[in-house]
Amino acid sequence: MAQRSIIIIGAGIAGLAAGCYAQMNGYSTQIHEAHDKPGGLCTAWKRRGYTVDGCIHHLAGASPGVELYRLWEELGAVQGREMVFCDTLTQVESADGQVLTVYTDIDRLERHMKQLSPADARLIEEYTNGARKFARIDLFSLMAMTPLQAARKAWPVAGTFAKWSKVTLDQFAEGFQDPFLRRAFPTVQYDFADIPMFLHLNFLAGCHNKTLGWPKGGSLSFARSIADRYERLGGRIHCRSRVSRILVEDNRAVGVIANGAEHKADVVISAADGHSTIFDMLGGKFADERIKRFYDAAPRSVEMALQVAFGVNRDMSQEPQALVWFLPQPVTIVDKDLDRVSIEVYNFDDTLAPAGKTVVKVMLSACYDYWKGLPDADRAKYDDEKQRVAAAVLRLLEQRFPGISAQVEMTDVATPVTTERFTGNWQGLQAWSVPGEPFAMLKGFTRTLPRLRNMYMVGQWAESTIGLPTAVASGRRAVQSICRLDGKRFRATTLSEYSSVQRED
Ligand SMILES: Cc1cc2nc3c(=O)[nH]c(=O)nc-3n(C[C@H](O)[C@H](O)[C@H](O)COP(=O)(O)OP(=O)(O)OC[C@H]3O[C@@H](n4cnc5c(N)ncnc54)[C@H](O)[C@@H]3O)c2cc1C
Repeated sequence: MAQRSIIIIGAGIAGLAAGCYAQMNGYSTQIHEAHDKPGGLCTAWKRRGYTVDGCIHHLAGASPGVELYRLWEELGAVQGREMVFCDTLTQVESADGQVLTVYTDIDRLERHMKQLSPADARLIEEYTNGARKFARIDLFSLMAMTPLQAARKAWPVAGTFAKWSKVTLDQFAEGFQDPFLRRAFPTVQYDFADIPMFLHLNFLAGCHNKTLGWPKGGSLSFARSIADRYERLGGRIHCRSRVSRILVEDNRAVGVIANGAEHKADVVISAADGHSTIFDMLGGKFADERIKRFYDAAPRSVEMALQVAFGVNRDMSQEPQALVWFLPQPVTIVDKDLDRVSIEVYNFDDTLAPAGKTVVKVMLSACYDYWKGLPDADRAKYDDEKQRVAAAVLRLLEQRFPGISAQVEMTDVATPVTTERFTGNWQGLQAWSVPGEPFAMLKGFTRTLPRLRNMYMVGQWAESTIGLPTAVASGRRAVQSICRLDGKRFRATTLSEYSSVQRED
């Protein structure tokens, strides 16, 4: 049989993964990427000698022995890469000097919390025992498994999972007698107070087990190693090649139009933003009511959508790497009233700043409409507003780190409009869960589209779940489906230092 061809739209992690696995299985593939580099959201940018990392806080599958690590090995992302494991998940500080340090060592965390509030010993034990239970399995690896494998693996913690799914961080915190713990606890997981406890417990368990870590070099370097693996497998990435249309004949995808030129293929995989794939590239023709409802309900304000970074001529190696700081006085930034800020101090990776210097970043929630309204009216207004936000954030940092304002050598502000411009993600959004479909996380949301053949979607929008593990598993799964339809056995290879190891799934 002649070699079958696949066109992939988007060189984010999902598109690159799909490309690697398709090449491993004998398909001839090309990726069209709108940006000038691969990585998508898994990216970083260099400013005045500092690297601002736009993505990874925790990479799941960071240590050998878990299923996800094997996938990263297949993609050439972890071989020779140092992983950094921090001693703390975060540190929460009140304005009057009280400190909750969320140690990743669960026993140490339990001792510390009991010292903070002996009266809460029972609730603290319930919490830390919950984390210990989740530490017995790596829930992040479930994404890399078939539903049956995942069910078998998750079965031993099904009861624990059910219990901790029903309660959010802020609800759990209400049980503490100590007023500081009651206030601080809801912020311990990226300051997302309303997420279910099981998510946080999994993060804590993963950090404890060292299956969640930071890949040294950061997000773009990580993505580049996968792009490199793809090209070594014979794939080709066309950067600055924006796909405007997916060509369809008789309800079969047959190619794409990129930068005005037509490219034909046997199969099309879109790893690009879901909204533009479905409503722009396909003109909405294959969107049913369920899909329309989902996109109509897009959130207006999004966490972590406004990133304010500073490169500072200051050694901050003794500072916590992640900090939630309750402000002495509440402030308003843009349209948000803040009583605390989350600060990230990138002191754990010396590749991100010159020696003795540090990148410090504050992430805020943001509303796309607000920022989109500014450049449309006037580009200078948009830039002024970014400067105003940066100045307001720096005034806050000055209170926590006196003298820092005078040490700033680089300032960078990224808004939802920036994200949209560089990654194509509609309104700078990331995927959200499908209302009323609790199993969409397992079954996916739009892995294929109604009535359209020869076309797959992969990545966060196909799955309605964010995260690098989702992106990889999604790309891998699409190629497994293509192999199945073509009557082929799916194969994946791992490049070890000395040899290429092959396995069949
Ligand atoms: C601030 C932040 C922090 C995060 N932290 C973590 C973390 O700690 N751990 C974790 O696992 N995940 C994290 N994530 C989530 C993770 O980054 C994403 O879920 C994942 O990278 C999505 O990958 P993707 O391939 O599905 O999509 P994307 O990365 O969005 O890739 C889509 C690609 O398609 C391209 N494209 C779009 N339209 C077109 C077109 N018309 N033509 C050609 N190309 C096109 C884009 O340029 C892009 O390269 C974070 C995300 C953000 C924003």
